[in-house]
Amino acid sequence: MKKDNDKPKGKNRKNNEILKTIVLFILLIACIVGAGTIYYLNNGKDKAEEKELAYTELITSINEGKIEKIEMTTGSNSVKVTLAGEGEEKEREKTLLVPSTQAFMELIQEKVDKDGIKLELNQKPVNPLLKVADSLFSLLPTILLVVLMLMIIKMQGLGGDSGKIYGGEDGRKPEVRFEDIAGLDEEKGELIEIVDFLKKPQAYLDMGAKIPRGILLYGKPGTGKTLIAKAIAGEAGVPFISMSGSEFIEMFAGLGASRVRKLFEKAKKISPCIIFIDEIDAIGSRRTSNSGSETENNQTLNQLLVEMDGFETNETIIVLAATNRPEMLDKALLRPGRFDRQITIPAPDLNGREAILKLHSQNKKFASDVDFKSIAGDTAGFTGAELANVLNESAIIATRNKHDAITNSDIENAVKKITVGLEKTNRVISDKDKRLTAYHEAGHAVVSKFLPTQTDVKEVSIIPRGLAGGYTMYKTNEDKFYVSKTELLEKMVALMGGRAAEKIALNEISTGASNDIEVATGIAKDMLTVYGMDDKLGPISLKVDDPYQLQIFGEKVIDEVGNQIQVLIDTAYRTAQEILSANMNILDAVAMTLLEKEKITSEEFEKFFE
Ligand code: ATP
Repeated sequence: MKKDNDKPKGKNRKNNEILKTIVLFILLIACIVGAGTIYYLNNGKDKAEEKELAYTELITSINEGKIEKIEMTTGSNSVKVTLAGEGEEKEREKTLLVPSTQAFMELIQEKVDKDGIKLELNQKPVNPLLKVADSLFSLLPTILLVVLMLMIIKMQGLGGDSGKIYGGEDGRKPEVRFEDIAGLDEEKGELIEIVDFLKKPQAYLDMGAKIPRGILLYGKPGTGKTLIAKAIAGEAGVPFISMSGSEFIEMFAGLGASRVRKLFEKAKKISPCIIFIDEIDAIGSRRTSNSGSETENNQTLNQLLVEMDGFETNETIIVLAATNRPEMLDKALLRPGRFDRQITIPAPDLNGREAILKLHSQNKKFASDVDFKSIAGDTAGFTGAELANVLNESAIIATRNKHDAITNSDIENAVKKITVGLEKTNRVISDKDKRLTAYHEAGHAVVSKFLPTQTDVKEVSIIPRGLAGGYTMYKTNEDKFYVSKTELLEKMVALMGGRAAEKIALNEISTGASNDIEVATGIAKDMLTVYGMDDKLGPISLKVDDPYQLQIFGEKVIDEVGNQIQVLIDTAYRTAQEILSANMNILDAVAMTLLEKEKITSEEFEKFFE
């Protein structure tokens, strides 16, 4: 399988740009400091060597008739004063610094006239280099401010980065094809006509067909939305411009909208082509009437709507957008002529997972015991990206274990590493904690054995993995579309099995059950507020965007939800305790074996029930 080699190196490019700007900034500072140094060396150094004179001293000297000459130079704030007396003129010279020559002249004019002091105003030719350095130095704060602004704008991307093009200007098209996407056959079937249209638009136009403008791909991250968009472009042999919704989010008002405009201008130049906007919810979420960044977002979204409406019929541009939060999108985006086609990209089913595993196994070495079907069975709910990651991790594990090829156990380890975390065999655990963990995990396993809807135990371990002190893994041998109420209730009982075992066997409860409690409470809450599974409340949905909307249900309903959540959890906890009390001998035996062996396989576990 070709990996996504042509994925934009957007981040690197942005980093390079920032680096370039910083270098430019440093160079500019160096220039300014250089100019300042020249200025100081030519101007300041002389001054430092001369003897300075204070203004009050000058007035006293004038009054006492001790001044022979006052020399001023236009454009300079230093005044040369020659004291009266004998000896070399240079010896008698002093310097006085004044804020402005003009003002100083006016101030002392009267005194000078009276005392007959020689007053000279020179038009000293200024070294042009010095002049530039001087003005550059005085402009320093302004220049710094402008450069800083430019840097921020550049980081924000005003530089006009309006989408990464794959193909088009340089003729390169995405190399991804439909055959690089495993599973998703129906979705591919739906999109094949888009490919055909991009290949020969005229045939469709001649027939009077209206071409879809926008296609929205809904799905969890990693389900292959980007891959599909690229494959459409690859199959049709057209360029692909990709941009992420978050790249339109700008600090300065109007910039997001201008980037949308630029993106479409670029697309029109290289049409026929595909525009792919990932994470469209970043700009396409429902418009609000608020101010600030919201208004900026609204402007960006409005511009996107305008651009999509403004396509000419002969412009063969298809906009594909991806999101995993469809409920967030502004309704206007989904109107006819815009994203009027929506395709859900689901997480792969059993066959899909096997196909993805096989596809991603192509350039790896596997031992003969590897069974992709069974791995697919153990990875229900995994996305394509996660499955690709499993195989990559298993290759790393196999290399570390110095295996000749990737074995089935390397893959199983990779799955556990991804789901529960890395095994921490070296962590020192006290005997008390080990005992607590052993009973906790044995509790989960034993309780679930007595729950008909729960799947069989695959492995129980008290070796810490990730953040967990131990774990009970269950087999996943079925892809389910719907989950029944009984199943949810029993799942809560299995989750409570850990806490119940701690209480019954050790008369103690610990923090180890926190995650189980969180998950169980979540299930109870969803049963009542999302799935409408409560007998008293009935089939109502309390899913609201804003907590204020809950007010329409009245306090009685809200209180009932709170009460029923408690009832569900209490019942689950009690049921778990009852199951364990009736099977104490099995609970003890499983816990003892865990303390001894640290890990129990599914076969070993089943033996306790024979
Ligand atoms: P996101 O929402 O995070 O952008 P996505 O849905 O766009 O994710 P992709 O970037 O297309 O996901 O998929 C990530 C990677 O997962 C792909 O590059 C590919 O390696 C793998 N992958 C996902 N689905 C499939 C599939 N059906 N067949 C083969 N590989 C897949």
